[in-house]
Amino acid sequence: MKLYNTFTNQKEEFKPVEDGKVKFYVCGPTVYNYIHIGNARAFIVNDVLRRFFEFSGYEVNYILNITDIDDKIINQAVTEKVDVGEITKKYSAAFFEDIKNLNIKPATHNPRATEHIEEIIALIESLVEQGFAYESKGDVLFDISKFDDYGKLSGKNLDDLRAGARVAIDEKKNNPLDFVLWKKQKPGEPAWASPWGKGRPGWHIECSAMSMKYLGDTFDIHAGGIDLAFPHHENEIAQSECASKNKFVKYWLHNGFLKIDGDKMSKSLGNFRTVKDILESYSYSAIRTFFLQKHYRSPIDLTSDGLQAAKSASIKLNIFYKNLCQAITGFESDLEIIETASFSEKDAEYLTNIKQLRIEFVNALNDDMNTPTAISKLFEIVRHGNQLLTNEPLSENQKLLGKLTQKYIEDFDLVFGILDAKGKEFDSGLVGDLMEVLMEMRSDLRTKKEWALSDKIRDSLGGMGIVLEDKEGVTTWRKK
Ligand SMILES: [Zn+2]
Repeated sequence: MKLYNTFTNQKEEFKPVEDGKVKFYVCGPTVYNYIHIGNARAFIVNDVLRRFFEFSGYEVNYILNITDIDDKIINQAVTEKVDVGEITKKYSAAFFEDIKNLNIKPATHNPRATEHIEEIIALIESLVEQGFAYESKGDVLFDISKFDDYGKLSGKNLDDLRAGARVAIDEKKNNPLDFVLWKKQKPGEPAWASPWGKGRPGWHIECSAMSMKYLGDTFDIHAGGIDLAFPHHENEIAQSECASKNKFVKYWLHNGFLKIDGDKMSKSLGNFRTVKDILESYSYSAIRTFFLQKHYRSPIDLTSDGLQAAKSASIKLNIFYKNLCQAITGFESDLEIIETASFSEKDAEYLTNIKQLRIEFVNALNDDMNTPTAISKLFEIVRHGNQLLTNEPLSENQKLLGKLTQKYIEDFDLVFGILDAKGKEFDSGLVGDLMEVLMEMRSDLRTKKEWALSDKIRDSLGGMGIVLEDKEGVTTWRKK
């Protein structure tokens, strides 16, 4: 398997520190607000990579931290007029809810910064003792002049950085680029006792301390959004390698930016979209499909059209899967006999095609997680599968092919996580297709403001125990 390592700027063969195991760290959220859809991209693409490692037989130790002490959290507590603890409790619960609703697998551990103060202090002490950090008026700062490789990950040149930082001269710092490891307590702020007096950790040191605690001095993958490469990840490398004298991370992976309708997402532009909001109108299946259709390193532009197209694709997949399951209901046969069965020419061709698509799916993912290609193979299987279903009722051999198709789709889904679990409760087959037609007709009526007819459809379906829900111009249906 090849992955693009941001540290070396090239695709490299993945060779784990320990055979058969992957030690994987993802920078988690600072829990002061609901996460936005840009944050979600990092969590989804890394979830898919983690799932693909597991699919390929690796045991993955997946660590996603929670930053629960930070300036932003303290400010939010002031805004909401509550304790810092209430803010972090509320927004970390919201984060886990969002993660679950996006069908992201739970991490092996979710370490919290405030539960690792001891480890953080020990790491800072080691840096001070070895001369890489110094105390200044109750703060502890990292001395970047002591680390020759500073700037290597982000490709930043120290002289340029120095020039850029000239304006921000801080009397506490020996060098304007030195960064804080420990912050002296300000009145009213949460604080912990330390050898340098009461204070709290800086953000960068938290990730170094927690990743090394759970994964060791050297681990395989450290991932996050490209905006974290500098200074966050650069600083993590400096702290960790100076303290341990070992290489910190083998593969640095960074996912691309997300824009909204071509603009940068920002509160001032009013285009800030939380995961919670988007989940009101789109299923996890649609949202994940949307992200998977773009390579993780490319920038992505979130538009309603894009989401709508991903939604249609995911509906097609889920309807096909339901129809397929129904077409082979009760068919109990060992898939191994497929190798010796004698197929018609057309059925044999079907088998060759879908086997080839499964190989191409794995090859695409092995090539730096090429999910756009991999997911296109899934949709090709759906296209072939729909052809197969036109033969209904299926012959025994065709049911065998159907069963293999079902297994492949379920295999693909171990990686993608886009099959709609709720969808399985719905009636499959003709009913599903008819509902799609009705939904479209009703949507046209609503566009033309033909409310009476549109309501009549809803009421009649209501009488049959089917509930329609209209959200942001999209109608979904479910059984009562
Ligand atoms: Zn981090």
